[in-house]
Amino acid sequence: MTFNVAVIPGDGIGPEIYEGSKKILSKLKEIYKLDVNFIEVEAGDSALSKYGEALPKHSLNVIEKSDMILKGPVGESAMDVVVKLRQMYDMYANIRPAKSLPNVQSKYKNVDILIVRENTEDLYKGFEFMASDGVAVGLKVITEFASKRIINVALSYALKRRGKITCVHKANVMRVTDGLFARICRELLKDKVIFEEMYVDAAAANLVKDPSKFDVIVTTNVYGDILSDEASQIAGSLGLAPSANIGDKKSMFEPVHGAAFDIAGKGIANPTAFLLSISMMFNRMYEISMDSKYLLASKSLENSIIKVYEKGEKLTPDIGGNAKMIEMIDEIYKFIS
Ligand code: ATP
Ligand code: MG
Repeated sequence: MTFNVAVIPGDGIGPEIYEGSKKILSKLKEIYKLDVNFIEVEAGDSALSKYGEALPKHSLNVIEKSDMILKGPVGESAMDVVVKLRQMYDMYANIRPAKSLPNVQSKYKNVDILIVRENTEDLYKGFEFMASDGVAVGLKVITEFASKRIINVALSYALKRRGKITCVHKANVMRVTDGLFARICRELLKDKVIFEEMYVDAAAANLVKDPSKFDVIVTTNVYGDILSDEASQIAGSLGLAPSANIGDKKSMFEPVHGAAFDIAGKGIANPTAFLLSISMMFNRMYEISMDSKYLLASKSLENSIIKVYEKGEKLTPDIGGNAKMIEMIDEIYKFIS
C-alpha cells in the first residue's frame, strides 16, 4: 500500500521548516523504501487572505483523498483549520509524548510520558448557552463509546511502553460524567496493565513532584489539554513537543508550537517538534501496515534528533545554541542511516 500525505506547510515559521525538512524526508524515503507521497496543500492565514477561506475547497479535495495530514503551525486561523479537520475526520485521540532531550535546560531528567487525550467531547463539545440573564451554562458530555475507544488507544500504547496507565479524572466530584469514564477505565484496564487512578488536581501536582512515576496518562478532553502542556514543559519546552490526532480513517501530525511570526524568515526556527511529528507519522504508518520499514524510519529519525541534542553543537537559539535551522537539519540529516 502507498500512503498519501497531505502536507499543510502552514504560516510563520511553518513553510521554512517544511522546506528544510524535505531533504530528511527524501533520505528516509530512499533508505527505507517508504511508499509515501507528499502532496502540499494550502491552508491557514495565507490561504485565508488569498481565497477568503482558511481551508479552501481545493485543499479539502486533496485532504479527502489522503491517508494522513502533516501540518505545520498555523497562525490566527489555526482553530478554523485544526478543529474543523479533527471534527470532519473524527480524529478522536490526541497523543502527546513528553520526553526529555539531552542538553535542554529543565528541572527534570529522563521524563518519558505519553498523554492520551480524548479529543471529541467533554466541555469542548460546545454545548453552551445563557440559561437566563447573567447565568451561563456549559454541558459536559462523556459517552461510553468515546471513553472506550480512547482507553483502548491508551492500552495499545502502554503495552508497547512500560505497561503502566494512570487514569486521570475527578469522579469524587463529577460522579456521573467522570464516574462513567473512571468505571470504563477500571473495566478495560485493571488486569491488563499496572493501573492507577488519580484525581486531576493530584495529577497536576504529582507531575511536577515526580514525573518519573508516569508512563501513559489517559484522560478526558479538558484535563488532557491542560496536563499535556504541563507535561511538555516539564520535559523541557513546549516548543519541542510533537503531537498526533488519530482517527480510524485519517490521522494528523503537528508540532504543538505556534507560527512564531516574530522569528519567521530569520532561519533560526527550531525544527525539532515538526520532525518528531514526522517520526510519529511513520510510527502510525507502521501500526496500520505492520510493515517494519516504517517503524525503522520512525526510530531512525527520532534517534538522529536525539544524537544532535547529545552532541549539543548544532542547536538553535531558542534552546541556547547559535546554529541556524538549516545547520541543525544538516546535522540530523548526517546521522540518519
Ligand atoms: P500561537 O499564536 O499559535 O500560539 P505563537 O507565535 O505565539 O503562536 P508559540 O508557539 O506560542 O507561537 O510560541 C511562542 C514563542 O516561542 C514564539 O513567538 C517564538 O519566539 C518561540 N517559538 C515557538 N516555536 C518555536 C520554534 N519552533 N523555534 C524557535 N522558537 C519558537
Ligand atoms: Mg502563543
